[in-house]
Amino acid sequence: MGKPTGFMDFQRHATPKRDPITRLSDFYEIYGSPLEGDLKRQGARCMDCGTPFCQSETGCPIDNLIPEWNDLVYQGRWREAYERLIKTNNFPEFTGRICPAPCEEACVLGIIEPAVTIKSIECAIIDRAFDEGWVKPQPPGKRTGKKIAIVGSGPAGLAAADQLNKVGHQVTVFERDDRIGGLLMYGVPNMKLDKRIVDRRVNLLRDEGIIFRPGVNVGVDVTGEDLRQRFDAVLLACGALMAREREVPGRELRGVHLAMEYLHGVTKSLLDSQFADGQFIDAKDKDVIVIGGGDTGADCIGTALRQRCHSVLNITRREREPEQRDDFHPWPGPRGTYYLDYSHEEGKARDGRDPREYGILPLAFVDNGQGAVKAVRIERLEWSRDAAGRWQRKQTGIVEELPADLVFLSAGFTGHDSPGVVDQLGVKCQRGTVTASYGAFTTNIPGVFAAGDMRRGASLIVWAIAEGRGAAHAIDAYLMGRSALPKPQMSAALAIVGQGA
Ligand SMILES: Cc1cc2nc3c(=O)[nH]c(=O)nc-3n(C[C@H](O)[C@H](O)[C@H](O)COP(=O)(O)OP(=O)(O)OC[C@H]3O[C@@H](n4cnc5c(N)ncnc54)[C@H](O)[C@@H]3O)c2cc1C
Ligand code: SF4
Repeated sequence: MGKPTGFMDFQRHATPKRDPITRLSDFYEIYGSPLEGDLKRQGARCMDCGTPFCQSETGCPIDNLIPEWNDLVYQGRWREAYERLIKTNNFPEFTGRICPAPCEEACVLGIIEPAVTIKSIECAIIDRAFDEGWVKPQPPGKRTGKKIAIVGSGPAGLAAADQLNKVGHQVTVFERDDRIGGLLMYGVPNMKLDKRIVDRRVNLLRDEGIIFRPGVNVGVDVTGEDLRQRFDAVLLACGALMAREREVPGRELRGVHLAMEYLHGVTKSLLDSQFADGQFIDAKDKDVIVIGGGDTGADCIGTALRQRCHSVLNITRREREPEQRDDFHPWPGPRGTYYLDYSHEEGKARDGRDPREYGILPLAFVDNGQGAVKAVRIERLEWSRDAAGRWQRKQTGIVEELPADLVFLSAGFTGHDSPGVVDQLGVKCQRGTVTASYGAFTTNIPGVFAAGDMRRGASLIVWAIAEGRGAAHAIDAYLMGRSALPKPQMSAALAIVGQGA
């Protein structure tokens, strides 16, 4: 523990973001530069708890050695901090930027004070490691002769590929998109995660010997059976990209799009041509309504604001979150409190109000008479909790039309969208996810494994990394009889209590 009184001496101060109005004029990352002194003081706030809840099962899913690197940063021992960090996390440059940080929600200091800025410290360690040239390709010393196919190049597939390559297996990653990275590339927008950072990691993995096959849709361009014949094991990591659709009249109108159509197109056009090709949905001067919240909804708001939309409104059926943790969100679990994500801050800075409105039920998309949307008809809802704490919804009969030239649907995801490969392999699925228990990651077909959102349903990057690491351990053990690869410690605990399945 660095400074025994650090948590009393210093206030929380996370790495600042760039000014919200300035950053709306570009698609560069929203983050500012941390100061070394600040980071050391933040490291000093860590209490080195006897039971560090930050790395317990309610905290970091990959068991990051958080108090250790907090202390090392406080002492200025950055290289050792980096070496601790990469013991558990293959891609801290991704989680350090966009993880919602369950570790901070579980931080013991959070009971009485704002939590330690774990995420800022993580990001600073890995960024410094790249700047200093400490991150170098490290191909395995020898090869085992075993070949593994990974379908899907999101964080689950990439983490598994990295782990399996380290122990000498020859890994080939198949990806149907033209670029590698899964939602790191074509879901999360550039201002949250610069695509050069994704490419930098992919290039390192390539230099270490992993083979990438972008533009190959497994189940269409190559069959699941082909993969089983050509490879010793197959990992399915296709994500959960089937968007949830609600039956709202007028869905077919021009201007009503799935959120992912919008986000994917904007990032691809940015990367292909800096928007010169015009191959994206443009919100310039439009009234935009985003239906549904979460990261996807927030990213649609941030993108529309950068395109200089006339207005943006994010509507959701839910009640607004409480300001403070309530009895339904006890520490150390998720806070469930109201907060402004980056794009909400931007909307507030530009338009003087948080773009979100709560308790709104979409009833219909209204035609402008020429087959395009001109408004969303909505009804206001009232929410209250019953005696058991369950939310009860009341329709108020207050119906309005909210003007909209563009509507983005962000109602979540129902499961994977790769029926071809799943059917060809004969893998069992339930409610859109591949059936494979957490910790084992094995499907009903010997030699076929599943991990990430495709197994657990739409989740988080840090969980995808945890699953990729766990699946790599399982595949290595399947091929070699045993495995020295680490797997997230909580795999066993969660498998026992039946969580994460
Ligand atoms: C807009 C958006 C923003 C998000 N923001 C955050 C965030 O800020 N923080 C966070 O922690 N999480 C965020 N998430 C969630 C996070 O991105 C996912 O949980 C995570 O990427 C899942 O990783 P994965 O590897 O399982 O799958 P994915 O990242 O979805 O990757 C799966 C890949 O498989 C490919 N694929 C599918 N089928 C085939 C096939 N048959 N053949 C070849 N390739 C195939 C897909 O094209 C895709 O590239 C966000 C999600 C979205 C949609
Ligand atoms: S829970 Fe918070 S204070 Fe305790 S060890 Fe983890 S980061 Fe430090």
